[in-house]
Amino acid sequence: MFCKSCGQQMDDFALLCPKCGASTTDQTQAPPPPVYQQPVYQQPVYQQPYQAGAVADVPSGGMKLLSFCIPIVGLILYLTWKDQKPVSAKAMGKAALIGFILGFVLSIAYYIIAFVVIGAASGYSYSDYYSIANFATKFFG
Ligand SMILES: [Zn+2]
Repeated sequence: MFCKSCGQQMDDFALLCPKCGASTTDQTQAPPPPVYQQPVYQQPVYQQPYQAGAVADVPSGGMKLLSFCIPIVGLILYLTWKDQKPVSAKAMGKAALIGFILGFVLSIAYYIIAFVVIGAASGYSYSDYYSIANFATKFFG
């Protein structure tokens, strides 16, 4: 006879295959011994559920730059996208706010520098521009 498991020729009355050890009496092969496995701890992945038909909400760099340079555009984009694309809207709003604040600070700095330069050129003393109103009166009046 031949081994049912590996095909090795063996004694007709053998109970076990000399090559692979398979039983000749059992029709079914014994299942492999259970191997204890340490359960793999997996960090739960928090994913936003995919919404079918949802618009791609990825803020584009170009639009952010536009919002930054022209804050009013960012404000309009924010208001238009607020409901459909909250992530993009927030990014545009943020870029617009940074652009606005930076523009505001720069314009103040520009006026201060302009006053200092004009003041210096006009021969006014430094104390004159402690009060811009006082300086303006002297300069224009
Ligand atoms: Zn065998």
